[in-house]
Amino acid sequence: MSESSEFSELAQRDRSLSDSKSEDSALKTQLQLLISANHILHHHNLVDAFGHISIRNPVNPSEYIIAAYDPGAPALVSKFTDLITYHVSDSTPVDPNAAKGYSERYIHGEIFARWPEVNCVIHSHSEAVIPFMTSNIQIKPVFHMAGFLGAEGPRTFDVTKLYTTMDKGEYSPDMLIKSAYLGQSLAQGFRESGKDGEGPAPVVLQHKHGFTCVGESIQRAVYRAIYLQKNCELLQKSIGLMGDGMGSVSYLTEEEAEGCRQMNELTEDKAFRLWLREVEVNPLYHNAEGVPRDLPVGGMKDVH
Ligand SMILES: [Zn+2]
Repeated sequence: MSESSEFSELAQRDRSLSDSKSEDSALKTQLQLLISANHILHHHNLVDAFGHISIRNPVNPSEYIIAAYDPGAPALVSKFTDLITYHVSDSTPVDPNAAKGYSERYIHGEIFARWPEVNCVIHSHSEAVIPFMTSNIQIKPVFHMAGFLGAEGPRTFDVTKLYTTMDKGEYSPDMLIKSAYLGQSLAQGFRESGKDGEGPAPVVLQHKHGFTCVGESIQRAVYRAIYLQKNCELLQKSIGLMGDGMGSVSYLTEEEAEGCRQMNELTEDKAFRLWLREVEVNPLYHNAEGVPRDLPVGGMKDVH
């Protein structure tokens, strides 16, 4: 493919629906951010050769975009042609001749299908998070930066419970979410406890596997992934200090968690600009499409 052909193709196809230059510009910005977000997740040890991030196409919400299997490793994604566009409806590629994709793309497709407010999905095998599921210890927020987790913390999805319901041909006990059936089950796990019509929850943990988190924007989903992991690191330290006194670990109360969640959303832009710069100056990472400079700036209201 020629230079920037993925973007050109997407833009051209979508121009037939709308002639808006601002839509083209919005798509380009999101694709540039998607490349850098791949690097940020690697820089923060949320992904290695495995794990992935996707966005909903801001111009056509029935499509989503994610890196191809090759180069695939998030640190190595560098240009628009490293990305593939899929139909949300069934995770088939929009271009029938597209390169090979991730087998776990059903995580992304089924979450985008189930939750129209979600515009970014991240799947991670974070080594700081997995031990809590394997030890059957509930993850709850221990500091203000993780208020978005809610006082009760995220729920855990256990794919092994579905294995007995699968056809023999589909059965493959490798923990991966590589079918629409498993993806739909995971996506349904994002409903908030007791609120079937609302949601989605920010995070679902995956037993013996990792976690998936979502956001209305790349910035929000990346924030949630990084601060879920930081929270787990702090929680593990707290548990270590307490010894057997597990009951003595202090978590955010429900009211505190909600207050912190609101604060988290107002300040995530500040963290994201730092993370963008960190990967921009690191020679391992290359964003051939450029890094947007005019991202919106949020922040807390000054109290007088
Ligand atoms: Zn995985």
